Amino acid sequence: MSRIRKHVERLLPYVPGEQPKARGLIKLNTNENPYPPSPKVLAATQAAVDDRLRLYPNPTAKGLRTRLAKLHGVQPENVIVGNGSDELLALATRAFVEPARDCVQYFTPSYSLYPVLTDIHNARRREVPLPVDFSLPTVQELRSFKRWDFKAALTFVTTPNAPSGRGYATANLEQLCRAQQGIVILDEAYVDFAQENAMALATQYDHVLVSRTFSKAYSLCFQRIGYFVGPAKLIEALDKVRDSYNVNGLGQVAAEATLKQLTYYRANFRKIIELRKRTVEKLAALGFQTLPSATNFILTKPPRFAARTWLKRLRERKILVRWFSDSRVKDYLRITIGSEREMTTLHREVKAVLKG
Ligand SMILES: *Cc1c(COP(=O)(O)O)cnc(C)c1O
Repeated sequence: MSRIRKHVERLLPYVPGEQPKARGLIKLNTNENPYPPSPKVLAATQAAVDDRLRLYPNPTAKGLRTRLAKLHGVQPENVIVGNGSDELLALATRAFVEPARDCVQYFTPSYSLYPVLTDIHNARRREVPLPVDFSLPTVQELRSFKRWDFKAALTFVTTPNAPSGRGYATANLEQLCRAQQGIVILDEAYVDFAQENAMALATQYDHVLVSRTFSKAYSLCFQRIGYFVGPAKLIEALDKVRDSYNVNGLGQVAAEATLKQLTYYRANFRKIIELRKRTVEKLAALGFQTLPSATNFILTKPPRFAARTWLKRLRERKILVRWFSDSRVKDYLRITIGSEREMTTLHREVKAVLKG
């Protein structure tokens, strides 16, 4: 007799990108930032490692929320901080979706955590394929797709999209939001590498939340800090279903310090965007077809060998990239934009694979 709920026994867990133990590998597989946190952020975090570790942190991340509210021109009641944005995405299913009845809607391919969260909550998955170029369908097109549900309890939109890297215009996102009756979460994990963001929609509509994270753009994956901005009523509902001390103290310190050093981070965004452009050009000269990217990674179709073979060949050469078996993207590699040196090595090793 199993003591575990049948529903849980059937669940398939989220599969994270590999975090190798071996040193000397170039990690271009999980969209981490190649630049370290600002020295001031490291100093502030280190300085916080003292006697206070025995105390509970601020239960609502008040200081951080206040700073974030100021940054986005909203009130602290419009902000909730989570143990990474992943936690908040999970809380949203808990707060807004009735198990066994409601559906969670999202495009495919997009963030592979959404189906996992839907299943954990025992909600219904509503997966709607993106067009072949991974562009955002217009509302008119969505009306013609039988599968799209304008009344879905919760709709996740990854914008810019992952794993394609495509950016979506705020005007188009706004049309989509206006047409939805349920809650829409705009997952802007990569938005700092894009040309526009849709934060304004979270302040204008009573059913729209914008999700952000310190992980990718702010070099802080390790600390697990993400946040939502949106209507106070929705934030209050999320607040009710979170754990009492969901955001660890050192994470709060590091994130607050980060917000005082935005100039440092913005310079890094510019470097990554510039290097993204040069990487796409160099790979194009070798026969790679890359989708336009508004993120810190590219989705690219390699020449000569199958994408999966490229994954293996590059790994033999100590470079980790990501490959997804999903039929829509199986011919592509997803490559994170690393440092100048890492991308130079990638270019050299790609040429070597092509010669070998
Ligand atoms: C990385 C990522 C997240 C999660 O970020 P955390 O804040 O580290 O939990 C959310 N959404 C997308 C699309 C991501 O790629």
